[in-house]
Amino acid sequence: MRRPIVAGNWKMNMLQSEAEDLVKKLLEWNGLSQSVDIVIAPPYTALGVVRKLVKNSGIQLAGQNIYFETKGAWTGEISAAMLKDAGCQFVILGHSERRHYFHEDDALINQKIKAALENELQVIFCVGETLEQRERAQTQEVVALQLKNGLQGVHATDLEKMVIAYEPVWAIGTGKTATPEQAQEIHCYVRKIIEKDFGKIVAENIRIQYGGSVNSENSKCLLDQEDIDGALVGSASLNLESFTAIINSAN
Ligand code: PEP
Repeated sequence: MRRPIVAGNWKMNMLQSEAEDLVKKLLEWNGLSQSVDIVIAPPYTALGVVRKLVKNSGIQLAGQNIYFETKGAWTGEISAAMLKDAGCQFVILGHSERRHYFHEDDALINQKIKAALENELQVIFCVGETLEQRERAQTQEVVALQLKNGLQGVHATDLEKMVIAYEPVWAIGTGKTATPEQAQEIHCYVRKIIEKDFGKIVAENIRIQYGGSVNSENSKCLLDQEDIDGALVGSASLNLESFTAIINSAN
């Protein structure tokens, strides 16, 4: 039985005062359950304030990116050890916004994944196809390649510290969601690839989140699918009502 995981990716939103306000309300909400892992990924500048608030609450913290080097002259970057030091248990890697706007390729993402794992950060590893790739019927091929390249040299035992997020690029921040059937098809496919490369037990245990315009209306149908173990939520995680409704759907 896989424990559901709902993560809120705040992206470049939330000043410290806004973060404080939202997290305080989330903590007051009486639905914080023992049966769903809840992760929040604030911008770096709000990690400190959120860390203090969520201490002992069960809510876990994620960073939105790292660089793979350990330290040194990499202006503007932060390392896996720094995120860990800032109180994060997770890091989101391979997000389509990093791939597209910041030209991160599979090889770089692979280096980042290894750096995170070496520093005992759990990884939410995002994969997904563009609209053009879907229309050309290349979805499976694209996702398989992202998984193969991203997980190059990663050991089966490390997969225990990873969550895969299937996020079709055409559904991120667009209001267009994959249908539950479309999402289930790719989640099932991702699990098959993991089984082929890392074995049946790893594949059965790994959690695969869906991401892409998940909201309070569509979350239940998506999360009811057999191979969908949670959600990676962008804009709806900035709003208490929608984020808590999504968590409820995962329960
Ligand atoms: C995301 O940022 O991972 C995401 C899925 O965003 P949104 O929910 O806004 O589409």
